Amino acid sequence: MTIFRKIIDKSIPARIVFEDEHCLAFHDIQPKAPIHILVIPKREIRSLADLETTDKELLGHLMLRTAEIAEAQGLKLDGYRVVTNIGRNGGQSVNHLHFHILGGRAMQWPPG
Ligand code: AMP
Repeated sequence: MTIFRKIIDKSIPARIVFEDEHCLAFHDIQPKAPIHILVIPKREIRSLADLETTDKELLGHLMLRTAEIAEAQGLKLDGYRVVTNIGRNGGQSVNHLHFHILGGRAMQWPPG
């Protein structure tokens, strides 16, 4: 079980910005940009690398919600970044699939 399961179960607090049957979005506790939100599936999936063909619909749902949440945060006009880290080299620290929405400033490329 990861800390994100506890956030889904509301056994620890989070600044939730969106929730539906399949996903939850909340502010990152250590923001790396003026707006830094995490979008996660409620079902426990370790990372993008662990998705299966049967998860197509869920992934599409998560991506659509991610764009809607970013727009609701006022990020659509100036743009923003969506990132998912995978495994050790990807810099993943919580083993529950999540998409970072980063916005409110210009992003660097390439990422570190
Ligand atoms: P990653 O390093 O890609 O696995 O991202 C995990 C993210 O979860 C990091 O940006 C952390 O700051 C964030 N995080 C960890 N614990 C919490 C928490 N309790 N509430 C909100 N965000 C968290």
